[in-house]
Amino acid sequence: MGDQLLQKIDPKELLKSLLQRAKKGTYSLAFELIPVDGYEQVIEVKEKKVGLHAIIAIHNTALGPALGGTRIFPYASREKALEDVLRLSKGMTYKSAVAEVGSGGGKSVIIADPKKDKTPELLMAFGEAVDAFNGLYICAEDVGCSTEDVKWIREKTKYVVGLLQEKSSGDPGYFTSWGIFRGIQSAAKKLFGTDSLEGKKVAVQGLGNVGSKLIDSLFWAGADLILSDIDSALVNRLAAKYDAKIVHPSEILKVECDILSPCAMGAILNERSIPELRCKAVAGGANNQLLKDGDADLLRARKILYAPDFVINAGGLLNVAAEIEVEGYSPKNPQRKAHRIYDTLLSIYEIAEKNHESTHAAAVALADYRIKYGIGKREVAPVFHHAV
Ligand code: NAD
Repeated sequence: MGDQLLQKIDPKELLKSLLQRAKKGTYSLAFELIPVDGYEQVIEVKEKKVGLHAIIAIHNTALGPALGGTRIFPYASREKALEDVLRLSKGMTYKSAVAEVGSGGGKSVIIADPKKDKTPELLMAFGEAVDAFNGLYICAEDVGCSTEDVKWIREKTKYVVGLLQEKSSGDPGYFTSWGIFRGIQSAAKKLFGTDSLEGKKVAVQGLGNVGSKLIDSLFWAGADLILSDIDSALVNRLAAKYDAKIVHPSEILKVECDILSPCAMGAILNERSIPELRCKAVAGGANNQLLKDGDADLLRARKILYAPDFVINAGGLLNVAAEIEVEGYSPKNPQRKAHRIYDTLLSIYEIAEKNHESTHAAAVALADYRIKYGIGKREVAPVFHHAV
């Protein structure tokens, strides 16, 4: 059974329908509109009893319903949370457009400490909030929100992907890290004329879900690894396993290497850090690596090849999006698409070179073109097989 293909909706109409739908739920959800230029919908959600304070941002639905993970993080302020969700949801629009998955850009943040505040009640209240959007927004796991947590969200809504169960796609980290690995190979191809990573020095910042899987592939491809994580027990364990060099988190961006792979937090490429980089390419999975779009020009001026984050880290999106296809989930299709991230990146490097622009600008232009002309637009309504 498929849902309807959704039409763009006026924010005031959406708020009215959110409030109506929320009345039927278990929790006392309060919704508030946050008008933001260039974004279709930005909604703040609170539920006092369970301590839920979240923001759901829908940047663009021209190609399909907004799809993007739920980040749980103890933001210092509501403004910081808003800034993050706006940047992340816009990134999802670009990521979806380039990956041609028939979804739009959305993201949600819950202002909470995942180590202390994450309760089943809080997650279920959030699930009820997502459900009120009636399919306009589809959530998934993200930093601070595991596939286990997603199970609680699922208790209250079917509009969630990446569940660890039959008919679902499971942990997106495997596909994300494989796409990044292919992106690193594309950088090697561009820099050295071969995609072999034998003996190449690759520095990885962040060894969580994505980074830990990535270094496994890099190890087997013969790369010399340089590792960093704020979790010293983790980095010690993985460095011993892969005979890798350890670098302190304050030094990783300055380390001499062939390819730097940021797989932790965003905004690490900026006016301050770029002059200090000692790599030939940056190719990693973290979202929103550039503090500002213009920082891509600083990389270009330093002749550092940059694999645009929203292109190289699309493997997880390809995997979760496969779950809502009519025929049901199979890993083969997203595997093939994640593998082709290599070719997409090589084309982007080419276009950027031809147009004398940054690779980031070339990738944004490609996404904008697809959005403008509806290339890759969803033709068939998504099917939530785990709910059928
Ligand atoms: P994670 O939380 O599992 O891992 C992040 C790791 O980074 C942790 O081990 C943490 O200790 C470490 N870290 C944090 N700050 C650091 C610092 N300053 N220096 C070194 N290490 C630091 O997250 P993840 O799922 O592995 O995702 C990593 C990045 O990739 C995030 O930016 C995420 O948005 C992005 N991403 C993830 C996926 C996915 O499928 N999980 C998909 C697309 C993009």
